[in-house]
Amino acid sequence: MLKKRAILITALVTIVVAAVAVFLYAARRPAAVPSPHAIVPPSIHYARDPSHPVTAIHLAAVYFVPKDIAASADASWRDTFNHALAELVRFYEFELHGAVAITYTVYPTPIIGEANHHVYDGGDTNRGNPNALAAVSAELGRRLFTPGGDHYDASFVRSVPGTDEALAILYEGVGSIATLRLAAGEQQAPNPLYQHSLIELDGVEWPVFLVSRFFLTTEGYRDYGETVFAHEFAHLFGLDDRFDADGNPTSDDIMGSGRFLPLVNTYLSLEDKRELGLTY
Ligand SMILES: [Zn+2]
Repeated sequence: MLKKRAILITALVTIVVAAVAVFLYAARRPAAVPSPHAIVPPSIHYARDPSHPVTAIHLAAVYFVPKDIAASADASWRDTFNHALAELVRFYEFELHGAVAITYTVYPTPIIGEANHHVYDGGDTNRGNPNALAAVSAELGRRLFTPGGDHYDASFVRSVPGTDEALAILYEGVGSIATLRLAAGEQQAPNPLYQHSLIELDGVEWPVFLVSRFFLTTEGYRDYGETVFAHEFAHLFGLDDRFDADGNPTSDDIMGSGRFLPLVNTYLSLEDKRELGLTY
């Protein structure tokens, strides 16, 4: 009888100990706390155009030198260009909270223009040099984007599904200007100073921005040359300037007076972000 009771007690104790052990094992596993790395980035769209989401942009990047100044092409253009592109990516990664993956490919050699600089500039380089944007875009469309062109490279100008393409031109000349993307239903750019230059390839539109090499290497622009480069890129999203025709700023962000600050010291305003569908 006593032996039976001892066996029964031993069995009960064993069961209790096992149950406690199972409970403790389960309880020691950490609760499912979301990792900050698992936070989904917000989604954005082109300015004032929710019908056109944008998740990835690839920049084809070209150093373009008019024929008559080929001898003065910058020997260190590749480092200069790569640095400006890398800083642009860093700026928008931070400002847009990772919503857009921006990648770039730099064309391996300078492209020497068929014409002299005054042909591209058209005699009037004010307002960012819109003549150069249109003329250089047209020439690159023919020589770089069209099979048979002397710089045609199918892999360089290929379109990747789900990625929006654009052309970044480092210009051996003056100016800084960009295609200003129009939202659906907009008949003309909010700021009519900007021409709507595009390269079209197999039904895909490549907006273009052009920035003088001097902005990136001249001492007088050292503080904000890369900011100008990143400012022009913002127009590809459809963001407009926030300064009037006389240059008086209406904001202090990168679209306004903040375009004259070092890139690390400027920002994209909440007003601009709201146009892209962001709330912070
Ligand atoms: Zn601008």
